Amino acid sequence: MTHPGSVDLDFELLRGFGFRCRPDCGLCCFAEPRADPPDRAQLLQIAPEATFVGHGPDRFLAARPNGGACQFLSDLRCRVHAARPHPCREFPVTVHLGHRVQATLVLSCPGVDLGPLLARPASGGAVPEGLDSELASVRSRLGSDLARRVAATSRRGRRIERRLRDSDRWTDDGAVRAALLDRTPMPDDRDFPAQALPDLEAGVENLPIFFDGRSGPVALAEDLGGWRILEVAAEGGYETLEVVPPPTRAPRLSEGAEDLLRGYLRYVLRRDAFLAAVQFDAAEEDDGTVLEWTDAALRELGATVLARASVRARLNGAGDRPLTAADLDAGIRATDQDALDRPSWGDRL
Ligand code: SF4
Ligand code: SF4
Repeated sequence: MTHPGSVDLDFELLRGFGFRCRPDCGLCCFAEPRADPPDRAQLLQIAPEATFVGHGPDRFLAARPNGGACQFLSDLRCRVHAARPHPCREFPVTVHLGHRVQATLVLSCPGVDLGPLLARPASGGAVPEGLDSELASVRSRLGSDLARRVAATSRRGRRIERRLRDSDRWTDDGAVRAALLDRTPMPDDRDFPAQALPDLEAGVENLPIFFDGRSGPVALAEDLGGWRILEVAAEGGYETLEVVPPPTRAPRLSEGAEDLLRGYLRYVLRRDAFLAAVQFDAAEEDDGTVLEWTDAALRELGATVLARASVRARLNGAGDRPLTAADLDAGIRATDQDALDRPSWGDRL
């Protein structure tokens, strides 16, 4: 329980990881970062031409149309680096407000080494390497207003909990994690075909994107013939690379691939944002306990990782061989931002 006026940052999920931004990437700049009033004031001082868009009560730095990058990305460099908004200063760290303030890593970022997913979670130990300035920016925003926001998100969470308790479907976070961390639910043929992708007509900016060593990110869209794989341009627009059928059953995995998927699903289970999203979904329906919903959500997420890993492997000429750990690494990176973007009763810092 968080007490007003004292909000600590939980960064256990960052321990053991290393981060080094890749100069050839730019993936995180294919976005519209939230720009709060202090961010906007700072940015407008050095870039009075900056334009913003509103979504709900928040304002965001506008991206170029048709899926293009942020207006300030030029040759994979930020033209307003010293005054970039806080999500840019903090990426790949993202912070969830729920009953506590929990930091996690956006594993879609290719600058984050996924090796630690294979290790058993250890508490204590070194803070992550290469994330000092990102964490300093997060900490600079942990003020008294945050205590009020956490109290509000926590109240929302309690309301969801009461609704689920009233129908005898509630399971505490600790009990869910104790039940599922060891026997990690893994996807099988029942979970295929994996979750559908957005249609291209929904806009390129709404498609899942990932870094694939090309000059622009690669995006995936639902298409009549299967999944359309696109390369997106910084100026907006795209080129179709291929249309491939997504797997209709669970692909075969090498041993290393299975370990990595299991490690990823365990990491996701430790995220408060994931449990808050599952509880939010469960409360909208009439049956199934929170434990059952979490089990199903992990399998569904695992199936999405496997489907995207297969498509990426195929794009890179892998044919039908079992998926390797490198393929799974690619599938996780093509999925994790979507996993973090799921609606929940929580909030983002
Ligand atoms: S996604 Fe990661 S590696 Fe790529 S530019 Fe952003 S921070 Fe750097
Ligand atoms: S402000 Fe800079 S760092 Fe942020 S999205 Fe735009 S180009 Fe990227």
